[in-house]
Amino acid sequence: MSAPGMNFAELHRLHLALHEVQEQLTRGPRQVKAREQLVATAEAEVAARREQLKTQRMSSDRKSLDLKTNEAKIADLRGKLNAASSNREFDIIKGQIEADTVANSVLQDEILELFDAIDGTQTEIKDAEQKVVKAKDELKRFADQFAADSAGLTTRVAEVSEQIKQRESGLTGDLLERYRRLVDAHGAEAMAPCEAGICGNCRVQVTPQNKVRLNSGLVIVCSACGRMLYKPPE
Ligand SMILES: [Zn+2]
Repeated sequence: MSAPGMNFAELHRLHLALHEVQEQLTRGPRQVKAREQLVATAEAEVAARREQLKTQRMSSDRKSLDLKTNEAKIADLRGKLNAASSNREFDIIKGQIEADTVANSVLQDEILELFDAIDGTQTEIKDAEQKVVKAKDELKRFADQFAADSAGLTTRVAEVSEQIKQRESGLTGDLLERYRRLVDAHGAEAMAPCEAGICGNCRVQVTPQNKVRLNSGLVIVCSACGRMLYKPPE
């Protein structure tokens, strides 16, 4: 298979360049999405911590209320203690006061623990909020950068495509047909350099006959992987 005046190495280089630019163009939105996901995760963390803080505050409020109720109850019982009409009644009331006092002491400990937990959660919320700000900054930085780059990348795609088209005009007949089919199927990997008689795509050795053809500047087809092989420039 021959292509007089055809520089396959250059054509391949252009296809690889085109592939790289197209990759950058498709990678950009994927990377933007990944950064949006990081923002969403950070925001979910803030929401979860805020919910936790709400629960802790409700629990603390409830316990504080219980404490006040018990204190009122104890004050009431102390009044009853003074008015007790028998020793038995006195002992019962005294026992109730002691039980309620122990209960209040437990409540006070629990309330103090909750205050500590609330402090901790508030710090966690601040940290999580900072992570959101950072993730949003990073998203904006990346999205802006990609928006700025993408115009240039799109222009580059058009330029390289045009250069490819110009070089393709040197292909005719069977070779053109094969080239089209292979490029449609494999993109830039439709072609491969053949160095020291080894296919650059599948690493299989070409026949001595094909090696001679390559050396005389012809394009050959790898018998193993079907790629078009060319002799790379010295
Ligand atoms: Zn091969």
